[in-house]
Amino acid sequence: MSKLNDFNSVDSDVIFDAAQKYGTPLYLYDEQTIVDKCKTLLAMPNAFGLTVRYAMKANSTKAILQIIHGQGLKIDASSMNEARRAHLAGIPYEDIMLTTQEAPVDQDLRDLENMMHEGLKYNVCSVRQLQNIADFAAANEIKLSMRVHPGVGTGESAAHNTGDHYSCYGVHLSDLEQALKFAKRKEIVFDLLHIHIGSGGDPETWRENIDHELSILEEYFPGAETVSFGGGLKEVRMPDGIAADIQKLGQYAKEKIEQFGKKTGRKLKMEIEPGTFVVANAGFIVAKVVDKKQTGVDGLKFIILNGGMDMSIRPLLYGSQHPFYIVSKAGELLSSEFAELNDEYTAAIVGTCCETGDSQCLNDEGLNTPRQMSEPEIGDYVAIGGAGAYCSTMSPMNYNSHLQAPEVLYTRDKELKEIRLRQTLEQMLANEI
Ligand SMILES: *Cc1c(COP(=O)(O)O)cnc(C)c1O
Repeated sequence: MSKLNDFNSVDSDVIFDAAQKYGTPLYLYDEQTIVDKCKTLLAMPNAFGLTVRYAMKANSTKAILQIIHGQGLKIDASSMNEARRAHLAGIPYEDIMLTTQEAPVDQDLRDLENMMHEGLKYNVCSVRQLQNIADFAAANEIKLSMRVHPGVGTGESAAHNTGDHYSCYGVHLSDLEQALKFAKRKEIVFDLLHIHIGSGGDPETWRENIDHELSILEEYFPGAETVSFGGGLKEVRMPDGIAADIQKLGQYAKEKIEQFGKKTGRKLKMEIEPGTFVVANAGFIVAKVVDKKQTGVDGLKFIILNGGMDMSIRPLLYGSQHPFYIVSKAGELLSSEFAELNDEYTAAIVGTCCETGDSQCLNDEGLNTPRQMSEPEIGDYVAIGGAGAYCSTMSPMNYNSHLQAPEVLYTRDKELKEIRLRQTLEQMLANEI
């Protein structure tokens, strides 16, 4: 038995046992890590109260939602189906906020209204969304939230930035006065202001957003009782990065909200909405080495796994790097990204899809770049860390007709529990006529 790193309770035996029991490839989640992250977030300093909403698009499997909700987090859903799914997992609508690009009409709008009757918080993200819900909200005196597009953003890549003018999330500042005039005519009250500027960016920009958002709130939202600073709390997957310091960010937000209170007499509650931070480092992809190749003496060495971009498309989308753990077929830890790497061996780890981008070792330009590790043999396992967020939920499943992989939880009682079964061939084909 060998520990993989200092922050997970999963060790090489757990990787081995999960692979034996459920076959590969699979997703493996460490419950203890998720619980620890929830506790860290809930302990964030705050002035007049804190709500932590988990952005469920990061990982929306029922058992994961239940663990996180059970720790006291609420939910941010990014679609009607996410809201329905959270509710089906046993989470009451009053613990769910909907922040979506969808503009529900017809049956969806009626469903949304029913959810709002049961307490769902609707975070309107466009003028059209506001117009669609206005009469219902006014007639039932249901207060709304608004997501504002602040005109500046951040993120670990351009694709993660949701705040600049290349992205279209929220009611843009240039539409705000018109939207608020319309709302006023309808006697609609916004009791929550929400801004989410992007994922994985610099904590400095996160702090700047706090200042910016409070000034927007003061100028435009006299009825707001709560301010949501969104998600995007930086988490690091590789050994060399620096994660967001939740204590420090909270301290900063607390001071700013207190200052705001002194100045205006308003005691704002605070919300944050992390996805990545809660689950990213709780997850592993566990796959098996099925082949090894080399592109000539001057070329690269390749390790081919039975799970690749169909398990995580993050390297291809963002050039993101995840730590590798090499575990022998007997369950022995051969190398960990978090320990000193003694081997000279380097290789690129790829999957089996017919797509050059099916790799876990892409650089910024999308080219395979070998990484150092112990040389695995055919049949050995590779565990890929930092795979709890935006891997299972974002995967281009069924490409090359690969079946959706199962999800396994390593519980706090140190047991393995399958929380989603492997898809079958019949299920993959079920809706074809
Ligand atoms: C995706 C998203 C989040 C979570 O972002 P993370 O970077 O995963 O923390 C929070 N709020 C909204 C509105 C989002 O779209």
